Amino acid sequence: MQSLERRLAELERENADLRLCADGFDAVSSAVLVTDADGRIVKVNRAFTTITGYPAAEALGRSLNLLWAEPGDCALQQDIAAALGRDGHWQGERFCRRKSGEVYRQWLSLATVRCGAGEAVRTVATFRDITEMRETAEKLWQQSNFDPLTELPNRGLFLDRLLQALVRADRDGRRVGLLFLGLDGFKTINDTLGHTIGDKLLAETARRFLGVVEDGDTVARFGGDEFTVVLTGPRTADDVVPRIRALLECLQEPFTIEGHQILISCSIGACLWPGDGVDVETLMRNATGAMQVAKGAGRNTFRFFTSTMDARAQARSRLVSELSDALDHQEFHLVFQPLVEIGGEGATRVVGAEALLRWHNRYIGAVGPDQFVPLAEEMGLIVPIGDWLVGAACHEAAGWQCLGAGPIEVAINVSARQVNHGDLEGVLTRALETSGLDPRLVVLEITEGLLLGSGEEVVGKLARLRAMGVRLAVDDFGTGYSSLTYLKHFPVDMLKIDRSFVGGALDRAQDGRLVEAIVALGHSMGLRVVGEGVETGAQLAFLAERGCDLAQGYLFSPPLTAERFRAFLTRHG
Ligand code: C2E
Ligand code: CA
Ligand code: CA
Repeated sequence: MQSLERRLAELERENADLRLCADGFDAVSSAVLVTDADGRIVKVNRAFTTITGYPAAEALGRSLNLLWAEPGDCALQQDIAAALGRDGHWQGERFCRRKSGEVYRQWLSLATVRCGAGEAVRTVATFRDITEMRETAEKLWQQSNFDPLTELPNRGLFLDRLLQALVRADRDGRRVGLLFLGLDGFKTINDTLGHTIGDKLLAETARRFLGVVEDGDTVARFGGDEFTVVLTGPRTADDVVPRIRALLECLQEPFTIEGHQILISCSIGACLWPGDGVDVETLMRNATGAMQVAKGAGRNTFRFFTSTMDARAQARSRLVSELSDALDHQEFHLVFQPLVEIGGEGATRVVGAEALLRWHNRYIGAVGPDQFVPLAEEMGLIVPIGDWLVGAACHEAAGWQCLGAGPIEVAINVSARQVNHGDLEGVLTRALETSGLDPRLVVLEITEGLLLGSGEEVVGKLARLRAMGVRLAVDDFGTGYSSLTYLKHFPVDMLKIDRSFVGGALDRAQDGRLVEAIVALGHSMGLRVVGEGVETGAQLAFLAERGCDLAQGYLFSPPLTAERFRAFLTRHG
């Protein structure tokens, strides 16, 4: 009796275990099916029906082949059968069909269950539908490697492909050509016809480029209006030339976009590996450099990178071509160096700032004003740059007035060319109007060079500027002319003693005397005098003793970004 009870309790426990297994079997999110030794399905779980669409009743008794997408996928089936026979398990990815006929991706694990060491008695298959996961991953890959506008590889994928091409060419003893293409005047089209048309133009251009390159070449969008091409298999530069010409010529027909006939050309820089660089970075730099030279040479043309190109001439032509687009690409910004008033006993108070121009080019990086201002003067570009600068400086200075630091002046450097050839009066009038800045808070810094050798016309222009209420300062005073009396003829308000004299004032008696003389001369003419480049307390003390009115230099602060200067004002207000 007792043993029957025990047996019943045992059965109860076993039953509970079985129910637990069955529940678990149905609860898992992976499909599970079990076959007998002949490959007939004997058990499936709920997820099996969810994924395949076959109810259990329809699946039972049928062959495992129910799962195969195309029964014709023989090679894979053979592989699987072989692996099962050999190792007892297989897993991998395959396409399958649901009952509805829809194809999906499946991650499948198969395992055979043997009876002891002998015959396989069952096969257990578990699988998941990974279609969506795969599609998301593919979309992500596509998004991070391709440019959505042109559908071309983007910069990242391109650099990857270039590297691969170099590795392959190295192995096969072949060469690789690299082309850097910049569209000429694209910015103007974009600005005048709008971004939608600009975008379509880029996409059409990409299509034309794709139409003329050879199989195996990669065309990529490098960014903006720039494309790159990797040419596989050229033996010499001569092999590359017809391929470059094809790219130039494919743009000869105008594009018709939304009813507009648009003509565009491109400039191409080319280099070859091996020869023009050992790594991707150098090759890219050299191809871009050659493209700049092509642009400088009049556009719609190409140049090969040559190491014999005079490095300096190249650097200069690079600067010239980059500089001509710098305004359009918004590569300029202003920094501000505080100007302080020297009070009694060396006490100082911020009364203004000098706006100094900075240029950060996307290829070359930061270029100093000493390098690019003279070049911009030569190219006549200083006029439009200066016009921008006047507007930007006035706008910024208008914002300083409400920071609680009192009225704060802005000193703007203007070049002789701007005064002679530009419409400084008009530009300044507009800048003052738009910004609402008081003209009395603007100081224009001009150079001695402008005053020397200039006639009545310049004197008249300067007088008109002053009549607007702005003030004029002579920059780098003392460096230009030995006689200081010429100043009498010009309507100026301020003298800025060149930093070379301030720096030498304590060590060289001659410089010290010159500083003294400039301060005295300035005061005798009712001008304010500024000491530039003040780096030490001793220099400041020297200037203060001589009665110099204002000072500027690293002792107080280096030139600051707009944001930092505002913070500086708030702190020192
Ligand atoms: P600058 O007008 O004489 O400008 C003063 C220069 O002295 C600035 O150099 C400034 O950073 C530097 N400096 C200031 N404090 C000290 C100091 O304590 N020690 C030393 N050693 N240097 C100091 P930056 O900004 O490199 O400008 C160089 C020149 O470029 C300017 O000389 C000016 O001739 C020209 N420049 C700068 N911005 C403009 C601009 O907006 N328009 C025009 N036309 N020319 C500009
Ligand atoms: Ca200056
Ligand atoms: Ca100066």
